[in-house]
Amino acid sequence: MSQDIYVVIEHLRGQVADISYTMLAAARELSRATSGKVIAVLLGHNAKNLARDFAADQVLYLDHASLAEFTSDAYQKALAELISKDQPRAVLFGNTSIGADVASVLSMRLGLPLVNSCRSFTSEAKFISQICGGKIMAEGELPSPTALVTMVPGGYQPDQGKSVESPPVTESAVPALEALRVTLSKYIEPESADVDISKEPLLIAVGRGIQNKDNIELADALAQAIGGVVCASRPVIDQGWLPTSRLVGKSGKHVKPKIYFAMGISGAPEHVEAITQSDTIIAVNTDPRAPIFNVAKYGVEMDIFELVETLTETVKQAK
Ligand SMILES: Cc1cc2nc3c(=O)[nH]c(=O)nc-3n(C[C@H](O)[C@H](O)[C@H](O)COP(=O)(O)OP(=O)(O)OC[C@H]3O[C@@H](n4cnc5c(N)ncnc54)[C@H](O)[C@@H]3O)c2cc1C
Repeated sequence: MSQDIYVVIEHLRGQVADISYTMLAAARELSRATSGKVIAVLLGHNAKNLARDFAADQVLYLDHASLAEFTSDAYQKALAELISKDQPRAVLFGNTSIGADVASVLSMRLGLPLVNSCRSFTSEAKFISQICGGKIMAEGELPSPTALVTMVPGGYQPDQGKSVESPPVTESAVPALEALRVTLSKYIEPESADVDISKEPLLIAVGRGIQNKDNIELADALAQAIGGVVCASRPVIDQGWLPTSRLVGKSGKHVKPKIYFAMGISGAPEHVEAITQSDTIIAVNTDPRAPIFNVAKYGVEMDIFELVETLTETVKQAK
């Protein structure tokens, strides 16, 4: 068994996901405790160039036509062989629909322990996981022999996992990937008639705390006064109070505005993973223990209905 930390790079349609860089930063911290190396594991087809800015000691590149697009089936087969052969100390996956899918099946297939929703590591190689929707932080020893870990964003900035120097890339053998049960038939694009919230500089985000559809008008009025756009967490979208194109989170869009103003949003991991690239997060919530305050630069413990109309009026007058 080695003391190296493997990071399974997540990428889709030529774009490396931010969680990959967050994991490289986390792996660096963990590798200091294990005295191992940080190894980025890149699966793809003609995708070697994606590795150019990884802050890793080495990149293991697995190239195969069946790895051109993500399928859980092909990733599981390729990674099962690699992990069994190399036996690293830990393998980090994104706690995303891609990473959680692959890591959980590999845990079962290889009989290896799985640590879920890990946010960071300590200098003694302990993991800190956020559980119960982010309300509880659990600390524990990294299990042996090889710990599979799914990582949530928030513990490290993606920029910490980037490097100006390209790491050395080694091509690694790919097992036979015939008889795969799952293949990608097509990508389904979301409707595009609406604004693209991933490009908006000022977002007014509403969560379940907004209570009903009529109250969305309050957020709209604030957005108009400030010159921003309204977006929402999943319960708001599921209720049909705003279109799917306004959904922020794992199942919606990742955003990176200058200001993300979160009103009545608890800060579940599936939401937070999509907002950590915002310059400034401001959160308003009646619950002082709401996890959104862990990522917010400014937090207001307050009822949104006591704040929003006054704020809108103040902005209008200031203009
Ligand atoms: C596979 C999967 C994918 C998911 N994808 C997404 C996704 O893309 N995006 C997403 O957002 N979620 C997603 N979720 C759901 C996610 O887990 C949470 O359930 C969701 O983000 C919670 O939304 P919320 O914060 O609006 O609601 P809640 O968690 O119910 O929080 C409401 C918050 O409002 C506060 N509040 C209530 N009233 C007031 C008031 N008057 N003033 C101020 N604060 C108030 C409460 O204190 C609470 O913190 C996903 C879940 C799964 C399992």
